[in-house]
Amino acid sequence: MIVRFLQILVAFVVVRILWGLIRTLFSKPASPPRAGPAGKTEERGRVVACERCDLHVPEERAVVRDGRTFCSDACAASASSN
Ligand SMILES: [Zn+2]
Repeated sequence: MIVRFLQILVAFVVVRILWGLIRTLFSKPASPPRAGPAGKTEERGRVVACERCDLHVPEERAVVRDGRTFCSDACAASASSN
């Protein structure tokens, strides 16, 4: 009677140890921190497209001239000269 109880106890402990090993083995691939998806700059603010060269720049860095959006002063100047 007591032997059977000990057998069940040992089996339970072995299963628990195996389960712990399996869990650590399966949790390892998920543990390294994943690199964030591309588009971190878009989280801060809007990204606008240059009307001249179609380059996408953050809104705070964009050059707005006559209601049109450009990536730089050079693009704004060349667009207005045409
Ligand atoms: Zn541009």
